[in-house]
Amino acid sequence: MQVNVERLMLDIEEYAGYGKSDQGGVTRPSFSQADYEVRERFIKELENMGLEVTIDGAANIWGRLKGTGEKHGSLVIGSHLDSVPNGGKYDGPLGVLMAKEIIETLLENNVTLDHDLEIVSFTAEESNDFNLSTFGSRSFVGRLNAEMLENICDSTGTRLSNELTKAGGGLDKFSMMAAMGKDKQAFIELHIEQGQRLESKNIAMAVIDRVVGTYRSNIRVIGQSNHSGTTMMEHRQDALTAAAEMILALECKCKESHSGVVGTVGKLNVSPNAANIIPGQVDFIFEVRGETEEKIQHTVNAIQDVWKEIAQKRQVDVQQQTFLDQKPVVLDGEIVRILQNAANEMEEPFMTFPSMAVHDAAHMATITKSAMVFVKSIDGKSHCPEEYSLPADIEKAGNLILRGIMNMDRELSQKTMVYQGNQNIQ
Ligand SMILES: [Zn+2]
Repeated sequence: MQVNVERLMLDIEEYAGYGKSDQGGVTRPSFSQADYEVRERFIKELENMGLEVTIDGAANIWGRLKGTGEKHGSLVIGSHLDSVPNGGKYDGPLGVLMAKEIIETLLENNVTLDHDLEIVSFTAEESNDFNLSTFGSRSFVGRLNAEMLENICDSTGTRLSNELTKAGGGLDKFSMMAAMGKDKQAFIELHIEQGQRLESKNIAMAVIDRVVGTYRSNIRVIGQSNHSGTTMMEHRQDALTAAAEMILALECKCKESHSGVVGTVGKLNVSPNAANIIPGQVDFIFEVRGETEEKIQHTVNAIQDVWKEIAQKRQVDVQQQTFLDQKPVVLDGEIVRILQNAANEMEEPFMTFPSMAVHDAAHMATITKSAMVFVKSIDGKSHCPEEYSLPADIEKAGNLILRGIMNMDRELSQKTMVYQGNQNIQ
């Protein structure tokens, strides 16, 4: 039994027509006109497939294919249908439309699982005008609740609660999600890699065993503003040259660590930011991501040690305020093993590595056994119209999940505990 990749690729193309942007990409944030249209189409398709459709409080769309009832609860596959502005066709829809393709394949082959099988499309996975990313999955697992969301509005003053109601959810339906969550036995999310680890090894897919943690601090470098002509080089306390050295040191420490840790300064404000004034203050955001807390902490400490030396040498003051310390999430060992075994049965090469970005699966991991599969991205491009994955690679990843689901249906041990994931994700 194999997924029909031609059918899936046509589906991906058709869905990309909703919110098509002038610059060649897809602009379909949650609650936009294009999103409402795509939701309507998706729900209709699930109903036509004979699935029982539920829209929960967060307007996540669930479709349920009944199993034999031999085993309790459901196995869930899915991702998200919203996009960033002028994004690609694959980030999100690939996981949702592949889930649909897998269910189509099972139906065509008259296969009934012992568990129920569910498809999910999570609301607002991407950051949006409400300033909430992974909104649907966070709400579903209880990390966001109705009280926290009551007064949230977007930049135009539109209330989130109204949009949720319009999409078939609503804050008054939030309480139903805890009960729904208890029934989920497993969650698998297929996603594009959005990096080049697979491409550099020429391997089609990866089983994802953890999601990296993210640490972010606001850094303020305080020097002394002064005249750019009259202040001789030895008399300067230039906050920008100090910050430049600090950023290079950060890059160097991350490279040196050889632990897969990545560090970035992506936002920088220079003040007073004028051609004839030596910069007196620089504010930047310092981010480190890594697969274990120890690796993150070790790198942050090493960077801070060098920064102290730089500050002393350049006579600037460095202030730091940490505002995000999101712990890494270990995905479920049993599901990871089942997926790895399925790839071995298929005799397909695969890699196992952590996801460097947060996905809905990281939140679902707090309530059920969860894992992810990545498919190779071409040139590592994502969140842009050039985002692309080869149909042949997508087919392999789809067949891996299909086989994985079948094996899971037989082998998965029943959920006996409530998973306690990290509660810090912001
Ligand atoms: Zn995504």
